[in-house]
Amino acid sequence: MNRELLRSLPKVDELLQEEIIKNQLNNSMRVLVLDSLREAIEFYRKAILNNEIECLTKEEVVIHSIKLLNKKKSPKLRKVINGTGTVVHTNLGRSLLSKGAIEKVISVAENYNNLEYDIEKGKRGSRYSHIEEIIIKITGAEAAMVVNNNAAAVMLVLDTLCREKEAIVSRGQLVEIGGSFRVPEVMKFSGAKLVEVGTTNRTHLYDYEDNISENTGVLLKVHTSNFKIMGFTEEVSIEDLVKLGNEKNIPVFEDIGSGVLIDYSKYGFVYEPTVQESIRKGIDVVTFSGDKMLGGPQAGIIVGKKTYVDSMRKNQLTRALRIDKMTLAALEGTLQHYLEEAEAIKDIPTLSMLLCGKEELKKRAQKLKRKLQNKTDKFTFTIDSDYSMVGGGSMPTEKMETYVIRIKSESFTAAQIEETLRMNEVAIIVRIYNNEVILDLRTLFEKDYEIIAEAFKNM
Ligand SMILES: *Cc1c(COP(=O)(O)O)cnc(C)c1O
Repeated sequence: MNRELLRSLPKVDELLQEEIIKNQLNNSMRVLVLDSLREAIEFYRKAILNNEIECLTKEEVVIHSIKLLNKKKSPKLRKVINGTGTVVHTNLGRSLLSKGAIEKVISVAENYNNLEYDIEKGKRGSRYSHIEEIIIKITGAEAAMVVNNNAAAVMLVLDTLCREKEAIVSRGQLVEIGGSFRVPEVMKFSGAKLVEVGTTNRTHLYDYEDNISENTGVLLKVHTSNFKIMGFTEEVSIEDLVKLGNEKNIPVFEDIGSGVLIDYSKYGFVYEPTVQESIRKGIDVVTFSGDKMLGGPQAGIIVGKKTYVDSMRKNQLTRALRIDKMTLAALEGTLQHYLEEAEAIKDIPTLSMLLCGKEELKKRAQKLKRKLQNKTDKFTFTIDSDYSMVGGGSMPTEKMETYVIRIKSESFTAAQIEETLRMNEVAIIVRIYNNEVILDLRTLFEKDYEIIAEAFKNM
């Protein structure tokens, strides 16, 4: 250890006299500047104690402290690059908004708007009215409203239709969704009492029938969107459940999870039940997410018979769960694309990523590989076919064919590469498979290729 060097470490007071630091004090909170200086000094103290440096100037400490300061002042919620290939990645913000939706958000955010104003009548209006018509048009439902997310939607429906009453649900549908949404827990908050019927793998119509009493509030169906039970299984069909509900005069409520509004089987996917199908078959109330397969902002959409939706609007809980103006704008902007299916699959990022063809992905892989190779020769980049996932607890069995770049290196382990990419100025999130870092082209954008290549170059 170099005692001389240790003694020469500048003190905070000393650094505060430096011109650059004085300038920083003019446009940063003092406490942030002081913390940065202390951390910079500490950083070099450690380096000296570990014999990592042999000389040090005051300027170096100042420059390091400015770096730390800039980091402290930069926003914590920020862009990342998704190289995992999982399209609806809940940890990475689920769906990206379309250009159209973003423009609507900006316009509503920077201007006054008619959020709760009826322009034609010149008086107070409802924030739900703007969006209802388009949801009705797309889903075929009688009525619609929107709250903060699907968990809130489920809670509101149960609270409205089933408070102090029983909701009958199949044991095979008591799902947990990532982020700790558990059907039984949500029901507790709503004040509905859960009546579980059937078994994990088989539930029959008589299981519902036998448990109906004057205390029954709803027949609940939960779409098991994030897992599949295979083998000896039986679920009651929507038709049978609706028929039973009608006979006994009990509303049938379906939490369909991912809001699928187009038939993906046309595009080679396994069939995923659409909202339209549930409505057509007579389900009284259906709820779904705005930011899963629908491709919009976080929201919970409630559609169904007018009498039920009206009673939800009157529930005091609605006020606490209400959607804000920017989300409304984003949702309306997203739904407008659905008026023309060809436009929806082209303009909504979630949809266009899901439906992107193999050949296109291969072309992109070649382009990115060329860029990477031009920047560095420390790695071997190999194009390979692979599978990507939908994510967001949707279509768990759907494996979409994709192209990836596999990365090998003599000097770094996969874990080291993964960490360096993750700690890049713009974090790059990848997956590791078989001890290799993998970049999946499905969720990467051409505008980010340069950033990725630079990150490899700097390694
Ligand atoms: C995702 C999901 C939810 C929760 O939806 P959020 O919009 O994330 O609140 C509820 N139920 C099912 C079946 C789901 O798939």
